[in-house]
Amino acid sequence: MELYNNIEKIREQFPALTQRVNNRELVYFDNGATAQKPVGVINLLNEMNSGVNGNIHRAVHELSARSTILYEGARDAVKLFINAGDRGEIIFTSGTTASINLVANSYTSTFINKGDIILLTEAEHHSNLVPWQMACSRSGAELRFLPVDEQGNWRMDLLDELLDKRVKLVSAAHISNVLGIINPVKQLIDKAHSAGAKVLIDGAQGIVHTEVDVKELDCDFYVFSGHKLYGPTGTGILYGKRNLLEEMVPWMGGGDMVGSVSLEKFSFAELPLKFEAGTPNFIGAAALGEAIKFVKSIDKGFAEKHEKEIISFITRELSKIDGIRMYGLGENKISLFSFNIEGIHPSDLAILLNKMGVAVRSGMMCCEPLMSRYGVTGMVRASLAVYNTMKEAEIFIESIKRGVRMLS
Ligand code: PMP
Repeated sequence: MELYNNIEKIREQFPALTQRVNNRELVYFDNGATAQKPVGVINLLNEMNSGVNGNIHRAVHELSARSTILYEGARDAVKLFINAGDRGEIIFTSGTTASINLVANSYTSTFINKGDIILLTEAEHHSNLVPWQMACSRSGAELRFLPVDEQGNWRMDLLDELLDKRVKLVSAAHISNVLGIINPVKQLIDKAHSAGAKVLIDGAQGIVHTEVDVKELDCDFYVFSGHKLYGPTGTGILYGKRNLLEEMVPWMGGGDMVGSVSLEKFSFAELPLKFEAGTPNFIGAAALGEAIKFVKSIDKGFAEKHEKEIISFITRELSKIDGIRMYGLGENKISLFSFNIEGIHPSDLAILLNKMGVAVRSGMMCCEPLMSRYGVTGMVRASLAVYNTMKEAEIFIESIKRGVRMLS
């Protein structure tokens, strides 16, 4: 297969990138929230919606058979992509949030009891916090938090002390959506396992910016969304180790997740269907397979070099701005930059950037406790993807300087 090592060729695959916003060429730097879709994904969505639309698994007719092949083919693609042991370990969900809620319900109802502890970090997205708060109020378990330092790095020096015998589960982001640091997840997983705890990794950002090998990581669960990985919204993955998924009781019942059903009782279907009650987003899931094809078509060496150049340019230029405070500093960073500029409200700056065609995120970014940790009520965040260019990075920096002049 020919690999793409040319930014123009990559961009050609993304029709959304050619649009103008507020009469300017769009600079889309909100990829941490959702990424644009390549033509392969768009075409498959169109093809299935306009033709290959038969409900999966259920019927003997041609459309159902074709949908089922595409859906199950995407499951195989995900399995290979993250190097899972078998296809039964790949559960389709509607996204990271749904995957975490599935574990927070099914795993905790089977394995977590009153007095147990679930360890998170203080930098988690609300989606990796609130489901555990809910699970604790149901089970009587308690939460404990690994702090981050001023730079945004996990306080690994505190981990041994926090990981006592009461900790049964650890759940943490591979890469925080605010800090952009690639966290030492392998170290966390190994230490948690030595202490007898299981580990869920929230890979919503990690799957996009690192190569994930769940066997090598040895995580018990790894979850991510399709829409940040150039795939459709409403798609996501829960990877879980087979032995755990086998023992977990599903939290949703319905069609497709059953073996046999009588008026009084039912038996579970085999994995993975046991956790896929009802009609899933089979068209979206199939298109997630196309998104993975796209990701695999990028020359990794090229993408890494390109990302590093942009990171060093933006870091250098941002740090020259008077009164800037950047969050998430370190060597092991992705192209995601969160910051505040003294005296300027993050949303005011984001509104001005939008007027200049530059799309960034502002606000709490679904991480209110982390905002409190830094004593702020919001930040500006620019998050880049593989299709963003150095020219866009320059426009971004110039636009910030202009915005700051207008707001000062
Ligand atoms: N965790 C992290 C680290 C994220 O960045 C996000 C999305 N911003 C989520 C969880 C939630 O993902 P989704 O909304 O796609 O379920």
